Amino acid sequence: MKKPLIQPKEISVEQRIYNFDEVVCGYTEEQALEEASRCIQCKNPKCISGCPVGIDIKKFIWYITQKDYPSAYYTISEKNNFPSICGRVCPAEYQCRKTCVFTPKDRNVAEENAINIPLLERFVGDYARKHNLALNLTEKIKTNPKLINTKVAVIGSGPAGLCVAGELARLGVKVDIYEALHLLGGVLIYGIPPFRLPRDVLYYEINLLKNYNVTFYTGVSVGKTLPFRELQKQYNSIFIGTGAGAPTWLNIEGESLCNIYSANEYLTRVNLMHSDKFPEFHTPINVGKNVTVIGGGNTAMDAARVALRMQKIKGINGKVTILYRRTQEEMPARKVEIDHAKQEGVEFKFLVQPVKFSGDTRGYVKSVLCLQCTLGEPDSSGRRRPVPIKGSEFEIETDLVIIAIGLKANQILLSTLPELKTTQDGDIIVNPETMETSIPNVYAGGDVVGGEGTVIEAMGMGKKAAQSIVQKLTIG
Ligand code: FAD
Ligand code: SF4
Repeated sequence: MKKPLIQPKEISVEQRIYNFDEVVCGYTEEQALEEASRCIQCKNPKCISGCPVGIDIKKFIWYITQKDYPSAYYTISEKNNFPSICGRVCPAEYQCRKTCVFTPKDRNVAEENAINIPLLERFVGDYARKHNLALNLTEKIKTNPKLINTKVAVIGSGPAGLCVAGELARLGVKVDIYEALHLLGGVLIYGIPPFRLPRDVLYYEINLLKNYNVTFYTGVSVGKTLPFRELQKQYNSIFIGTGAGAPTWLNIEGESLCNIYSANEYLTRVNLMHSDKFPEFHTPINVGKNVTVIGGGNTAMDAARVALRMQKIKGINGKVTILYRRTQEEMPARKVEIDHAKQEGVEFKFLVQPVKFSGDTRGYVKSVLCLQCTLGEPDSSGRRRPVPIKGSEFEIETDLVIIAIGLKANQILLSTLPELKTTQDGDIIVNPETMETSIPNVYAGGDVVGGEGTVIEAMGMGKKAAQSIVQKLTIG
């Protein structure tokens, strides 16, 4: 008989909604050993093909079964410098768990019983952090003599930029990262809340890069406070990993009323600027009693769960409602995030399309007019299209709205580079084999070139770009 998946412990709802502490506890050693023992060590392990950075999953799981956690860590580190981060945020049910042999081939999401690879990866990453294993890792680094005296500039410190930096620096390339914000990590620090990704974990894995001769320059907006042309003069190659930080708006009447936030602004105020601790920290935020979040992705779930915690922390007896145009089945958010949001008390209204916001006499939002929808034929995303029902208007009262319907590439840097080819949506066009842009020796990856929009995919692109940079630098 197949052994069932080992479920980790979670902090109870009553406890967790009053703070930003991590909700999912990692595996204990006992649980990790039990889960690892379910892996049947396939002769031809398909799980690896589902990992965008190609971790030897079978091998690191085998080391866990042998209680050889350092070897498990070094196996992961050959391909990924950030196991504790990825083990927490990777949507593995669409990646390695989906290709694990325990998921039947015709499924588009992992079977519940597929090996819990991310939690095993997290266990190994956390073990390595507690036992400082990364220090031994630097001794294993082999500098490529041809790369000594080469310099690469990385613009943006999100997962794509961090991955490029790690890959290049451990071969001896001098890497400088330029980051517009005052803290490193991109969405990992300003978007994903600490209850999913604790900051000590994040800082630890980012700071490891300093061991490899990576220098960070924060508060530098390339294209604004530092011209791109300066970087071209100083570096052999440049990597653009500026992400997709610009919000998409609904473009409906009343959208500029007070208390209507983009999800990025809302999350940045809380996660990065600590507005939950205002006035101790200087950034304020309005906390609604009746919050409406519009969207169905991970960003919407994060915004809703943060808004709910803000109400609880500030002692407001309110509610948070998510409006989504389709049904739960079409929601792009991870199931675990939807489940957590529901458990915590977030309400969901499906098949609802906002058409107009109304405000009070002071200019603050007071309601949103919506249309009921039905589902039509699938659109280009493969999901059934929402079709508004004529005459089905109804009004929802709200005093704070968070719009989380998608993000686009920020054009601050890109607009200064007329020779850089971009798509109609403003994403950078790259050669998919090399990640090189239309400007020679300038590479790009992560959300700024489009794609799935996941941490590990951004890292996968960073890895590919780093390999191309190395190839060019060593041949040239
Ligand atoms: P980013 O992480 O966006 O980093 C880009 C960095 O570049 C930023 O720090 C920015 O300040 C900097 N920058 C921009 N312009 C400049 C400039 N001109 N000069 C200097 N620096 C600049 N993915 C998952 O896999 N799992 C999840 O659970 C998940 N949850 C998410 C939750 C939210 C709220 C959001 C918004 C996204 C989430 N994602 C998740 C998606 C994932 O975070 C992104 O796909 C990933 O961060 C993209 O990485 P990146 O390096 O391309 O860009
Ligand atoms: Fe283990 Fe699944 Fe990979 Fe097979 S496919 S080696 S069972 S994780």
